[in-house]
Amino acid sequence: MQTIIEPFKIKSVEPIYFNTPEERVAILEKAFYNPFLIHSKDVIIDLLTDSGTSAMSSNQWAGIMQGDESYAGSPSFFRFEETIQNITGMPLVIPTHQGRAAEKILFSILGGKGKYFVSNTLFDTTRANIEFSGAEGVDLLCEEGKHPSIPAPFKGNMDVNLLKNFIAEKGASNIPLCVITVTNNSGGGQPVSMQNIREVSAVCKEHKIPLFIDACRFAENSYFIKIREAGYANKSVPEIAKELFSYADGCTMSAKKDAFANIGGFLAMRNESLALSCRNLLVVMEGFPTYGGLAGRDLEAIAIGLNEVMDENYLNYRIRSIEYLTNKLIEAGVPVMQPAGGHAVYIDAKAFFPHIPVDQYPGQALVGALYLVGGIRSVEIGSLMFGKYDTDGKLIPAQMELVRMAIPRRVYTQSHIDYVAEVVIEAFNNRAKVSGLKIIEEAPILRHFTAKLAPIN
Ligand SMILES: *Cc1c(COP(=O)(O)O)cnc(C)c1O
Repeated sequence: MQTIIEPFKIKSVEPIYFNTPEERVAILEKAFYNPFLIHSKDVIIDLLTDSGTSAMSSNQWAGIMQGDESYAGSPSFFRFEETIQNITGMPLVIPTHQGRAAEKILFSILGGKGKYFVSNTLFDTTRANIEFSGAEGVDLLCEEGKHPSIPAPFKGNMDVNLLKNFIAEKGASNIPLCVITVTNNSGGGQPVSMQNIREVSAVCKEHKIPLFIDACRFAENSYFIKIREAGYANKSVPEIAKELFSYADGCTMSAKKDAFANIGGFLAMRNESLALSCRNLLVVMEGFPTYGGLAGRDLEAIAIGLNEVMDENYLNYRIRSIEYLTNKLIEAGVPVMQPAGGHAVYIDAKAFFPHIPVDQYPGQALVGALYLVGGIRSVEIGSLMFGKYDTDGKLIPAQMELVRMAIPRRVYTQSHIDYVAEVVIEAFNNRAKVSGLKIIEEAPILRHFTAKLAPIN
């Protein structure tokens, strides 16, 4: 295959500051082996997240200048609204300052004690907003999605039989909403098939349960459908996205992902009375309905980004570049989640460091090793993030010990990706020298953001 070239030229650049391995030892120690405590200027390649870290296009920057900052009825809002109506086919569009603000509004209205929200996999903020309302979030992921090293085309699918059984057990009246996350962020960025969305939608309709899409990565998911699902090869990404949304009653979205924006989000839906309730809360929590929590210039940047992201040259580059990195690591024997997801590469730290027990946080040890070897910042998704303690203070580990390298959109070039592969492989070849970590200070909730750690020896 030909070299993957970026489908854009670079007009404006940001410097990367290089530091030496010796300097990185001191920086990592000072940050207590926690990547969230490292200053970004001390990072060479920042793969902490793909959220809000995209490079905007010259058109988006031009849109920023044209943003109209009127409090009510800004033309920037109407461009935003029309773009989302065109992509989703949903008539009612509500801007918010982030994805979680859209979730907060939706679940404040639909949530409450004794209710269940079913999903392929709920993202952390979605689950947190559901639980904050007193309701319970339930993941009904397909079996293939639970095995990181076994490839399958649509590992983000919901298990339709589990859904039917769950509805039979709890009663449809206790399930206010079904959420399909595309792609499945917490499940490795794996896509959901159109067939699965169609089947889930049919079950939901039969039981009068509304279906919402968590649409943060709708374009990446649509492109996976185009290249992997029978019958879609000749359809355009906008056509596929429109069909995907046609099975749903609404959606939430973080514009910090597939809209190439640095901030923003929205709700879109078909039901007038639900939209009215949402707008009533919006005014209290975010702002007037034609700006949500956003500036007019943000609405412009999002509207332009939403159209740019569906360009197939971009999506081909995006998906192939992540697949290229994944495959390079597989060839070198590095244990990674397969197949490649849409926005990140996940390394299986338990298999990477078989000599480090889970209560010595192999994922966090790998995050440290990648930083020391090459200044790469990644994030642990394992027992530091999700671990709990039993009554004796013993760690109850997470199901998996993963390290995520999320790739910001349009930010790094193919040579940066080659460098990342080299660093991971070098760390892998020297893996026996790395020791585990212990926690020396932690917060009672969301400890991974602030925890302080130290090497065991
Ligand atoms: C990022 C994300 C959210 C939350 O969006 P924010 O803009 O970070 O509040 C919700 N769902 C998924 C799948 C996400 O990736």
